[in-house]
Amino acid sequence: MSRFFSSRCAGLPAYVPGEQPQDQPYIKLNTNESPYPPSPGVLAAVTAQAEKLCLYPDPDAGALRAALARAYGVEPENVFLSNGSDDILNFAFLAFGEAGVLAPAVTYGFYPVYAALHHLDYRTAAVNGDFSLNPEEYHGAGRMVVLANPNAQTGIALGLEAVEGIVRANPGHVVLVDEAYVDFGAQSAVELTKRYDNLLVVQTFSKSRSMAGARLGFAVGDRGLVDDLRRIQYATNPYNLNRMTQAAALAALAEQSYYDENCRRIQETRAYTRNALEALGFTCTDSLANFLLASSPELPGGQLYRRLKERGILVRHFSDERLEDWVRITIGTRNQMEALAAAVADLLAIAREEAAYAAR
Ligand code: PMP
Repeated sequence: MSRFFSSRCAGLPAYVPGEQPQDQPYIKLNTNESPYPPSPGVLAAVTAQAEKLCLYPDPDAGALRAALARAYGVEPENVFLSNGSDDILNFAFLAFGEAGVLAPAVTYGFYPVYAALHHLDYRTAAVNGDFSLNPEEYHGAGRMVVLANPNAQTGIALGLEAVEGIVRANPGHVVLVDEAYVDFGAQSAVELTKRYDNLLVVQTFSKSRSMAGARLGFAVGDRGLVDDLRRIQYATNPYNLNRMTQAAALAALAEQSYYDENCRRIQETRAYTRNALEALGFTCTDSLANFLLASSPELPGGQLYRRLKERGILVRHFSDERLEDWVRITIGTRNQMEALAAAVADLLAIAREEAAYAAR
């Protein structure tokens, strides 16, 4: 830290993103990206923008906002776009978190970081032993409620009724539902935004639409909420959505069936992977996301992570004590998951031999 660093920032915790190693090719199952490339139209759209890079992009992203509004059955005024959903979360914490934030004790690790960045009081509600949430604990929160649905790290989803109950029970505060993983089998709350002016639904093109590298998130909500977010965007960087990303996303929306098919394949591969891991004695959460949270009584999470990495397979291990025994595994292609299952079986056999040797 330099001696010039503002005291307002000195205590900032830094979010630790998943590794993006550049040293060798890995089977990369650690940051919940799609294993499939973007659809063909995306490549053409990005290429066509290259010669226009001398011009600023449309700060309103008007064409993209209109297309998204059509796709989700809302009006363009109800859609906010920004540079990844992380960017939207940052804006939303600043815009709506003044009374504090309530989130589950196990969830996306960026929430407490945004709360600290904006000096907001951050509280958590406990999760059950199986990582499920108790929706009533978010009723009458007296502050902004932030829920990832499906939840980060566990993939467990709340049903629409439970989400609506939370929104209805917090009329004086914003309920932010982070649906980064909703397209892999959970129910979206977008429809509810038409009836509740305190509900903000945030989604991303990073997962189901294979565009993590392009950085595009969007939010759907009441016009008032969208206007507030735009105010913050215009007070920071109105051009934070570059023209290649805008064009890529428009092209992706025109090829939605390609992404629907990928989501279907990922759900199928998730079921295959879960069965394979359970057959090896693992416990998995009931994930409706593009990842599994898995734990073996014979291979502690940290050890499994390290040994898989030595074999060229990257998964995610979290230092949080509630997640210490677990690893989070992104669902890749069937081939990648077969390689993972084979490596895990091998590592288990070694761990069993080591345990037998130690017991002698
Ligand atoms: N929300 C959740 C729950 C996430 O897991 C992620 C991905 N790390 C994000 C938001 C951010 O995604 P992006 O900024 O790529 O849209």
